[in-house]
Amino acid sequence: MSKKFVYMFSEADGSMKNLLGGKGANLAEMTKLGLPIPQGFTVSTEACTKYYEDGKKITDEITAEIKASLAKLEEITGKTFGDNNRPLLVSVRSGSRASMPGMMDTVLNLGLNDVSVEGFAVATGNPRFAYDSYRRFIQMFSDVVKGLPKSQFERVLDEIKESKGFENDLQLSADDLKEVVEAFKALYVKHEGSEFPQEPVEQLMAAINAVFDSWNNERAVIYRRMHDIPGSWGTAVNVQSMVFGNMGDTSGTGVAFTRNPSTGERGIYGEYLLNAQGEDVVAGIRTPEPITRLENDMPEAYAEFMRLATKLENHYKDMQDMEFTIEDKVLYFLQTRNGKRTAQAALKIAVDLVEEGLCTKEEALMKVDPKQLDQLLHPNFDVEALAAAKVYGSALPASPGAAAGQVYFNADDAVAAKKRGERVILVRLETSPEDIEGMDAAQGILTARGGMTSHAAVVARGMGTCCISGCGEIKINEAAKTFTLGGKTVAEGDFISLDGSTGKIYLEDIKTVDPEISGDFSKFMGWADDVRTLKVRANADSPKDVINAVEFGAEGVGLCRTEHMFFEEDRLPKIRQMIVSNTVAEREAALAELIPFQKADFKGMYKALAGKPMTVRLLDPPLHEFLPQEEGDIRELAKEMGLTFEALKETVESLHEFNPMLGHRGCRLAVTYPEIAVMQTRAIIEAAVEVIAEEGIDVIPEIMIPLAGEVKELAYVKNIVVETAEKVIAEKGVKLKYLVGTMIEIPRAALTADLIAAEAEFFSFGTNDLTQMTFGYSRDDAGAFLDDYYKKSILESDPFARLDQTGVGQLVEMAVVKGRSARPDIKLGICGEHGGDPSSIEFCHRVGLDYVSCSPFRVPIARLAAAQAVLNNR
Ligand code: ADP
Ligand code: MG
Ligand code: MG
Repeated sequence: MSKKFVYMFSEADGSMKNLLGGKGANLAEMTKLGLPIPQGFTVSTEACTKYYEDGKKITDEITAEIKASLAKLEEITGKTFGDNNRPLLVSVRSGSRASMPGMMDTVLNLGLNDVSVEGFAVATGNPRFAYDSYRRFIQMFSDVVKGLPKSQFERVLDEIKESKGFENDLQLSADDLKEVVEAFKALYVKHEGSEFPQEPVEQLMAAINAVFDSWNNERAVIYRRMHDIPGSWGTAVNVQSMVFGNMGDTSGTGVAFTRNPSTGERGIYGEYLLNAQGEDVVAGIRTPEPITRLENDMPEAYAEFMRLATKLENHYKDMQDMEFTIEDKVLYFLQTRNGKRTAQAALKIAVDLVEEGLCTKEEALMKVDPKQLDQLLHPNFDVEALAAAKVYGSALPASPGAAAGQVYFNADDAVAAKKRGERVILVRLETSPEDIEGMDAAQGILTARGGMTSHAAVVARGMGTCCISGCGEIKINEAAKTFTLGGKTVAEGDFISLDGSTGKIYLEDIKTVDPEISGDFSKFMGWADDVRTLKVRANADSPKDVINAVEFGAEGVGLCRTEHMFFEEDRLPKIRQMIVSNTVAEREAALAELIPFQKADFKGMYKALAGKPMTVRLLDPPLHEFLPQEEGDIRELAKEMGLTFEALKETVESLHEFNPMLGHRGCRLAVTYPEIAVMQTRAIIEAAVEVIAEEGIDVIPEIMIPLAGEVKELAYVKNIVVETAEKVIAEKGVKLKYLVGTMIEIPRAALTADLIAAEAEFFSFGTNDLTQMTFGYSRDDAGAFLDDYYKKSILESDPFARLDQTGVGQLVEMAVVKGRSARPDIKLGICGEHGGDPSSIEFCHRVGLDYVSCSPFRVPIARLAAAQAVLNNR
């Protein structure tokens, strides 16, 4: 039997997400549960993958299966596709495994043509509605299938309304809408050079093709990169019989959540519009009513809706986000999915679901996206500064948090401003998926139109970006790049502030402060800690960082970058003095002055760690980073240091390298200038001895030698470290345990990890450099071409953010195996950027690292990701 590519809703169920996409699987599951679902069928994600394999063609076999399913649908509905009197109309909807709201395209009312629209008018007894449905179909089909922008149709519609002196669509009569249909068709002919397709099967196949194509449109590709969704998954296509919320005042359509997606509070939360078709709510074109109003408008439909919503939540054991339509008082569900939510809501819902007995702790752990926890740790407004600020307006608090920054009116300007280092607020009439990069660049988003479930609101909540939507009071002049609010005009580049939790808008730059963490947070994180086996450390360079990190749950410091200590104002002159020294004696004298600073820092960090381990890395960057490069600056520094300009310039020039990242840095510095390693080791050991004496706590320093690629260079530097450490310990007359290890960040170190492990008591994978050197992409310059790589589907994600498991990952795995073979009790960790990235953390778990280390703000992310890694790999 040949493979099946098309499934009726009644043939499938919720477990088939990978094959049928989330929407299709859930429509099938709801059908199975007996909910009122307009029936239909799903063309599988495998058909999509095949479509691409076959050079963007739908094979005859699959076409035949689609037609056979259409015939079954005709039987179920008792209507005929393409019938001139009572035509079966369908929607064609995308739906991938992971929900990508608004990222791909939908066509409604498909199956209408010039003839059947008249039959449809008679059958429904509502010509106005029939022509409205047809003009919507033409518009959506042209947009989705032919790439003819919606805005062009809207312009035509506006012109017709204006010519008749109408303000809104509802004033248009059936005859007016006939005129609109003709004008839309003319627009189509003008652009396509052919008539609008009249043959329904042809319409259907074209729409299915277009949905497959939309899987690779630019906004979908960007969205996938942001959410770690592989391009190989493909999208399914759902073909579903239409129900109509736009049949008059006993019809309507809406979107609702079973709990509040901003706060997590229990209780139905949503919006609906009377006499409207689904896209009107989602697109945010009209501002909808709260769903509780439905109780007055149609009490029976409301009661039924509430009953079924509860049933769905209990069934899926999670907060549901549902789309529904009421056609002449009869309720239908069009979609359900686990709802997107803010981090705050995610935690509350996860904890509540466990307390309500709806799910286990382990199930609850899987319901929170680790990356989202970031949001909880983001700033709020300073209370006093906020109280002193004037409120100029307010609108819907669509996504919480505080944002202050400079105003930009389109995505490109926003992205450019962010690149210049500005804090950006994106102000739009309404957002659309093309704005996604600009939204990502923004601290906050303000829109003039749209409700709590508009595109801007949904996407901003997912990103954790503050958003205020539906602010009808602002008047935007896009051409002049200004807006007015409360009598004040704001121009591009002016500062404003948005409070995404209250919806209030301020026309000034208000100070923000760090957030506080709720009780749900520690409870939930405790559950994660009970499950995970990977330890989580932080990358921290100062006592303050350590205090932060420990508060967020760090179990140690995985990377203390000592050079960061040298950049502070009181130390920089001393390290510079060291660099310009001509003799070892001079250098040692300069270093001696640095010891007290390093020691004090280390002591502060050991104390804050109270016995937790700390890995200290010896000096890593090339020395030129500590000296100015501009002539004027060199001149000034020479004067300060009592040197001639020429002498200092000569030093700067002698340090110049064509390729500093591959130059004189890491352990190579200690090979040339052993006295630097001596000074640093002394500071590390003395600090430990003193803290043990003063505080009575345990300290086991881990001294890390960076950038080794050859075991002999490691052995050389290690000898210096050990000799110095032993000397200090003997001087002090104490006992102290310490470890000496290395970073694995040069491919050669991974390849010879067994030899390296003979000298190293621990490895820490420096995956930033390891990625740089494995790909041969400069960390600092790759941004310039990576965009082209994403666009051309060469890379799906930034290998510096998400560990490349196929290539770089092999080196990591090899080093783990070889390292353990040479030294079974070797300690293994990661300290690159990847230590805070959930998918990379799962990899670290699988290859058997002991810990990950990441920036303090990402520690909670790592704790949860590590727990999920255990649950995913059971
Ligand atoms: P998205 O994934 O962007 O939400 P959908 O496929 O859910 O796209 O469809 C967009 C809108 O069209 C939704 O609001 C939905 O309610 C409406 N819609 C889709 N299919 C039908 C249908 N068969 N009958 C009525 N409305 C529909
Ligand atoms: Mg939807
Ligand atoms: Mg490095």
